[in-house]
Amino acid sequence: MRRAKTEIRTETAVARVCPREDRFEAFTDGKNCETCRTLLVATGGCAFVEGLDHAIEPCVPSLFSLETSDRPFTELAGIVAKGVRASGPGGATGEGDLLITHDGVSGPAVLRLSSFGARALANANYSFDLTIHWRPALREDQVFDALAKCRADTPRRQIGSLSPFGLAARLWKLLLLRAGVEATCEWGRCPLSGMREMARQTTAFSLPILGRSRRREEFVTCGGVRLKEVDFRTMESRRHPGLFLAGETLDMDGLTGGFNLQAAWTTGYLAAAAMLARHG
Ligand SMILES: Cc1cc2nc3c(=O)[nH]c(=O)nc-3n(C[C@H](O)[C@H](O)[C@H](O)COP(=O)(O)OP(=O)(O)OC[C@H]3O[C@@H](n4cnc5c(N)ncnc54)[C@H](O)[C@@H]3O)c2cc1C
Repeated sequence: MRRAKTEIRTETAVARVCPREDRFEAFTDGKNCETCRTLLVATGGCAFVEGLDHAIEPCVPSLFSLETSDRPFTELAGIVAKGVRASGPGGATGEGDLLITHDGVSGPAVLRLSSFGARALANANYSFDLTIHWRPALREDQVFDALAKCRADTPRRQIGSLSPFGLAARLWKLLLLRAGVEATCEWGRCPLSGMREMARQTTAFSLPILGRSRRREEFVTCGGVRLKEVDFRTMESRRHPGLFLAGETLDMDGLTGGFNLQAAWTTGYLAAAAMLARHG
């Protein structure tokens, strides 16, 4: 940047951009204005500058943890359940590991759900029943069969002392509590109704969600300038020739794993290359 004699101005927000015939005017306040032939807007999130008539998809947060009021559940904070499926409103799901936190749930399964279901969760005002399938590879009848096998193989063993699906012992005991089955009950004495309820708690555990985690650690914004308004070869706006858009300003968000940074860098690079070419 130094070699290219780039001037960096910090603490100087562009408040408004006015497209003129062959140039743009960028106002930092009422009277201070910069004029340029090409302009790149890369203001991130939903901090879109005024004056450009691009269609914007409404912005909602993405990639966040969830908060619950269920105290017996949050007493299990620190437990990680491997390979679960978390389902929310509008059919949104996220699969992966789930971390029980002091105020709710987090981990890849929840972050994926919050990304794939960003709009559905916002529409539900972040208040819904989260359904957790602790062993998504198995249907409810297959879970029931596995429980029936435990009953046949180990009738004298206490149900609470044998977690059949590899769940943490404390989590398994909570499932039993929810199923109305005594942890000290022997498998051989467990009524069929209790077995059915255990299968239901394993496949469709319901957790009341109150909102997004108050730690407010959401990473990305879902929404922004509609993608069809941009030429992806150059990142040039289809509405305003000479205007370029890059990064989170666009309606583009991905999962955790560097995809959002990569998207920002890639679109920034493409825009810069096209702008350089434009100036010869
Ligand atoms: C805590 C956290 C952790 C994250 N972790 C990851 C991760 O691990 N992997 C991943 O891929 N992504 C991650 N992200 C997301 C990633 O940082 C963003 O997707 C990426 O930085 C977007 O880049 P950008 O250049 O579009 O916007 P930004 O990085 O937001 O930059 C926009 C810049 O524009 C400036 N600006 C805004 N409005 C104006 C204005 N009107 N005038 C002038 N300047 C303005 C802002 O001050 C800012 O400097 C994380 C985000 C957060 C918040």
